[in-house]
Formats: sequence, C-alpha cells, structure tokens
Amino acid sequence: MEKLILSEDEIVRICDRLGKEIDTKLKADDNGIPIMVGVMNGALPFMYELVRHITTPCQLDTIKVSSYEGTETTGEVKVSKEPDHNLEGKDVVLVEDIIDTGVTMHFLREFVMKKYKPKNLYVCILIKRNNLKMKYDENAEFTGLTTDEQRYIVGFGFDYYGLFRNAPYVFVPSIKDIKEWGALLEDDKARTEAYNKVKK
Ligand code: 5GP
Repeated sequence: MEKLILSEDEIVRICDRLGKEIDTKLKADDNGIPIMVGVMNGALPFMYELVRHITTPCQLDTIKVSSYEGTETTGEVKVSKEPDHNLEGKDVVLVEDIIDTGVTMHFLREFVMKKYKPKNLYVCILIKRNNLKMKYDENAEFTGLTTDEQRYIVGFGFDYYGLFRNAPYVFVPSIKDIKEWGALLEDDKARTEAYNKVKK
C-alpha cells in the first residue's frame, strides 16, 4: 500500500456521523418509509455499513451504473439495473462511493428525478474528491470525507479491475501492488482459459 485513505475505524466513525445526519433529515421530512438506493457495485460495502447507523425504518434497493472501464472513466454513463421499489413520492437516499469528475452523479440525479419522481432525493457519498479535472460541480447532501488525493484508490467498494472491493479500508495502491495484481489477473485469465479449453 502507498497510502491509507480511510482505516476501518474511520469508516465506522464516518458512517455513524452520516447515519445521525440522515436520521435527522428524514425525521424532519416525516415522509413515510425512506428508501436507500446503493449504486452498484462500488457503494455496496458503504451502504451496508451506513444503514447499521440509521435508526429510521427504511428499505434498501440498488441501481447499477457504469462509467469506468478498468481505471479510466469512459465519460458515458449507462444504467444496467434499475431499482426494484417504486420510488415515486418517496424520500430517496442515493448512496454512492465517490464523486470524482461528477459525471456519474450529474447523470444519476437527473435520471432518478425524471424517471422515478421521488418526493425528495438526497445523495450520500463516502468520498468527495476535489478533482483537478472535474467535469460537473456535483456535491452530496451527506459527505463522509473530502480529499485532494488525485491518485486512484482501492478498497471498501473501490475496485481494481473488480478486485479488492472487499478490503475493509480505503487506500492508494503502490506500484508493487499494481504489478502483483496484474500478475494475479493474468494468472486467473490463463487458468480459466486452460480449464475451458480442456472442458471443450
Ligand atoms: P465520476 O463519474 O464522478 O468521475 O466517478 C464516479 C465513479 O467512478 C465512482 O462511482 C467510482 O466507481 C469510480 N471511481 C472514481 N474514482 C475512483 C477511484 O479512485 N478508484 C476506484 N476504484 N473507482 C473510482
């Protein structure tokens, strides 16, 4: 690891604070049962920790979007899984891992508001990056950590080609990590290809 961004303890403390902030807002709204919508796959570890600190009875759902291929943003956002609940007239809290260039959140806010017509839409993010190449000045109603760190981060939902979402903390990988993970991915690919070849 090159640098630790959020330790396990810090993540729990952040989720506790955010849970309290969200509870206060939802109680003030008093608009029935709110729905937490996690943006797959990156926000799932965060959403499941966060909801442990929310006392307001709420329902959980997911939406799936993608704008990244590998470690580069494609700039184009696609929805590949829509929420299962009817969000119309509801208080919805969209739970996302990070606002980076702002492209995904810019798209999501408009998409969710237009298509599902919630009464209130709030956004809760674990990390807001002050991206030097920001495309949309998107902000969240609830933010865990704001960082100037420009390097690619991994862990607790943040992946490297699908790997390490399960790490319980967030970090900047070292060059050595990246080399090892590259070899791991190559090895996995070779094993799968070899297995599939034998099977045929
Ligand atoms: P944006 O559209 O704001 O540029 O990026 C949002 C999405 O990009 C996030 O949901 C996240 O999946 C991905 N992303 C942005 N920065 C990082 C990063 O440093 N590491 C990882 N693993 N994903 C990132």
